[in-house]
Amino acid sequence: MQDSQLSLDTIFRRAEQFFPDKTVYTGGPAPTSTTYAEWAARTRRLGGVFDTLGISSDGRVGTFAWNSGRHLELYFAAPCTGRVLHTLNIRLFPDQVVYIANHAEDEVVFVDRSLLGLFLPLLDRMPLVRHVVVMNDLPDGAPSVEVPDDPRFHDYEELLAAASPVEFHVEDENQAAAMCYTSGTTGNPKGVVYSHRSTWLHSIGVLTNAGIGLHETDTVLPVVPMFHANAWGLAHAAPMAGASLVFPGPDMSPQGILKLLKEQDVTLAAGVPTIWQGLLPLLDGVELPKLRRIPCGGSAVPLALSEAFRAKLGKPILQAWGMTETSPVATSSHVPTRDQGLPEEEQAKLRARQGLPLPGVEVRIVEPGSIEPLPWNDEATGELQVRGPWIAAEYYRPDEGVELNTEDGWMKTGDVAAIDQYGSVRLVDRTKDLVKSGGEWISSVELENLLMAHPAIKEAAVIGVPHPKWDERPLACVVLLEGASATSEEILAYLAPLVAKWWLPDAVEFIDEVPKTSVGKFSKKDLRTRFADYHLS
Ligand code: ADP
Repeated sequence: MQDSQLSLDTIFRRAEQFFPDKTVYTGGPAPTSTTYAEWAARTRRLGGVFDTLGISSDGRVGTFAWNSGRHLELYFAAPCTGRVLHTLNIRLFPDQVVYIANHAEDEVVFVDRSLLGLFLPLLDRMPLVRHVVVMNDLPDGAPSVEVPDDPRFHDYEELLAAASPVEFHVEDENQAAAMCYTSGTTGNPKGVVYSHRSTWLHSIGVLTNAGIGLHETDTVLPVVPMFHANAWGLAHAAPMAGASLVFPGPDMSPQGILKLLKEQDVTLAAGVPTIWQGLLPLLDGVELPKLRRIPCGGSAVPLALSEAFRAKLGKPILQAWGMTETSPVATSSHVPTRDQGLPEEEQAKLRARQGLPLPGVEVRIVEPGSIEPLPWNDEATGELQVRGPWIAAEYYRPDEGVELNTEDGWMKTGDVAAIDQYGSVRLVDRTKDLVKSGGEWISSVELENLLMAHPAIKEAAVIGVPHPKWDERPLACVVLLEGASATSEEILAYLAPLVAKWWLPDAVEFIDEVPKTSVGKFSKKDLRTRFADYHLS
């Protein structure tokens, strides 16, 4: 067979040639709509802009931006001209953004006007950034931070209007296309570099029905940010499929998302559980007949959430699992033919699993520190390890000493899982979130899922707190639904018949909100700090 290059310019040309009429819509206060034909012409001119600005032929192009049509132009113009797209996570702490931009050696940063106020105070600590290109996502006359009178600053549309289009050609499929830093729960954030080849193959994986399953007939709404883990590959897979795209722009409110779902006839919408949890109260009496698939991941999808979507919209959530280091989609949880006759509650339990690996991805579980695989009986639990063509072999600058892979070439995920006889993964916890009581592990995730199915509970996070006898015992931190009431005794009595006796949390604390990380996951680190001195007797 011929050995052709799996590079992103082939995806770009496919959208340009075969799907010129498909649309890219961006919401927010200044909505825009464009076609793939216009998008492609602008993307080619953006390639010219990098030359005008003198960006090195393999230079890092930073973005500090919401999900938008312009961000999609950057997603292709950078890698298709040999540069490396580096999406900066706008929700990280300022020091981390500075660290990441410097570590990646970004030469230019493209910033949404609505985010300029966040970005400007950081710029002077990024000595390598020679240019800042402002993308105006606000309506005329809207109050906003002034663009400084400084030769480093440029206007996106002005640069584009003056630039010449370029031809895209990528020599080597193994060259870097993009990079993304993980939030770094311990130590500094770590960079993951995606190649053209890995991104191309991941896009195909996402396209398959075993992955997320996009069609040419879809209108795809990636609520999941383009600044974190590649918007789960949707920004590549949609142009590849010829599906239209809808982006939220700066308006990530539940009302804004619902408006897009309704008015743009969205058929596939993907986001983390927090997003769908936020939308839930707005869904009474709402009909979204076109919406056919709701992929969700990034943290465990509570069974109750998926079932609430099934009750309200007739569509359950499709759970997927992955990490920044796995491009990110690595498993997804479709109910197989074998189980489609099962009662709905049983099918719901299957959907609460993380599911089967995508084609090309392999999984195993091992005892920590060993490379001996554990049995697939859904009981044995161990560290989940993965391998495949879009799984990272190492972090950017591996000399910094973080080993990502085992000696026999599997990636260590830091997640603890069981696998059933059919190969379906069930995540039990993250290694660092397990509660260790008297030497035995308790799954905080499983307790949280049960708690969140309680009718009075909106959110629940379980953490381990020090205990004089057992080392650690579970503490349930609970947020009640507005207007609902429940006592800790009632909550514990509700849990008691559902879990082993020694799993029952020792106490329930009522809190106003579970603290969230930059991408909307429960931040147990913050809760652990808050309850570090919690006294259990
Ligand atoms: P971080 O959360 O450290 O910023 P990532 O966004 O890459 O990094 O998150 C990856 C982690 O998110 C996984 O290791 C896993 O713990 C968690 N995760 C992702 N998807 C799921 C899922 N469907 N169910 C449970 N946990 C998930």
